[in-house]
Amino acid sequence: MSGKTFYLETFGCQMNAHDSEKVIGTLEQQGYAQVDSEEAADLLLYNTCSIRDKAEQKVFHRLNDYKKLAKAGKRFGVIGCVAQQEGEKIFERAPYVSLVAGSASYRRLPELIARMEAGETRVTGLDDRQTDEAFETEFTARKNPYRAYITIIEGCDKFCAYCVVPYTRGKERSRGSESVLEEAKRIAGMGYTEIQLLGQNVNSYRDPTGKKSFAELLAAVGEVDGIRRVRFTTSHPRDFTRDIVEVIDAVPTLCDHVHLPVQSGSTRVLRAMAREYTREWYLERMDWIKAAKRKISLSTDIIVGFPGETPAEFEETITLLNEVQYDVVFAFKYSPRPNTPSLVMIDSISDEEKSKRLQILLDRQREIQRANYDRRLGEVLEVMVEGNNPAREQIVGRSSQNIPVNFSWPHPIAPAPGSYQQVRITRTFPNSLVGEAV
Ligand code: SF4
Repeated sequence: MSGKTFYLETFGCQMNAHDSEKVIGTLEQQGYAQVDSEEAADLLLYNTCSIRDKAEQKVFHRLNDYKKLAKAGKRFGVIGCVAQQEGEKIFERAPYVSLVAGSASYRRLPELIARMEAGETRVTGLDDRQTDEAFETEFTARKNPYRAYITIIEGCDKFCAYCVVPYTRGKERSRGSESVLEEAKRIAGMGYTEIQLLGQNVNSYRDPTGKKSFAELLAAVGEVDGIRRVRFTTSHPRDFTRDIVEVIDAVPTLCDHVHLPVQSGSTRVLRAMAREYTREWYLERMDWIKAAKRKISLSTDIIVGFPGETPAEFEETITLLNEVQYDVVFAFKYSPRPNTPSLVMIDSISDEEKSKRLQILLDRQREIQRANYDRRLGEVLEVMVEGNNPAREQIVGRSSQNIPVNFSWPHPIAPAPGSYQQVRITRTFPNSLVGEAV
């Protein structure tokens, strides 16, 4: 490996994207340079996702597509959730792969890479829920020019019946609040004004130093000099406490947006999913959020067609949509995943029926979302600029409620990405707002 170059492709969620930023930083620290094509790289890495069947297959297709490069002495590594899930089996399916490492082993990456460089052909970093350590590193190659991510908790102890994450990302382990705040100050020093706190269950955060609750940590990050926006994702209803709403009301830099996955509107289905809350418990949290002084935007995740979900239970999910009136819903068809408790349940609902339910849900949500967005006509929102769309002669950005806003700009020079502009909303679309700078 003369020039020590690497190519990294990332699949999946925001956690994976941020893990990749840390993996890149770690490799650069070891003298590697990132390249943007497989052909140009000495080391090809795939940071994988196994949340749904399709995601997993993508990895093996990619490996198969590029196996010819192995003959040219290139090395392959599979990291992330499929690596942890499939482990050594990957070497069987793709013998030219020489590194398989799950996310709970990333802090050992320098050692794993060194062993591969020394000629080992089957290097593994597979941690089955043993480690208590989070992957902390000062070497993070931040790819997003205006939003910086901080993982405050890794892993998951919830064991929802359909989910692979507890098996692929290990047990819940939180970072010390001081280490998080130091990173937030470092980020502000780099000129970032927006921070997004990450975790599979970010609000399950438990400060190992005992100094700060999740709500207190939110407030502290929000009070870091130079920081104008703080987001957090993904929360779990079981750990959603009233003080989170109170701190959003009290600290203006905390964004007025909460993403709280409900997954189903039926208490019986929630029980079968092992979500450990009821419809009523969830709606009580929605009431807390709606009673807040600030107008907090709501989004959620929903699974349709979970084994045994009756048409009436699906209808309960639709009535929950009507009751909550989310701004955004991410909805998916149930798909059985390896090693998960629901694998033994009969996947009783046909794919056709799942598609039908998904369509009904998306159609209803589109109506709700459109009506929500229409209510914003004439409002002036603060938008953080993310770029521009020359084709439409529009500036592209996002409100603090995380809603995409495209707006006209009266000046010849476009506003800089990362700057904040006041925008009056003049038009709405199903998934975005349009306006004019004021
Ligand atoms: S809370 Fe449930 S759905 Fe979320 S990561 Fe954990 S097991 Fe998966």
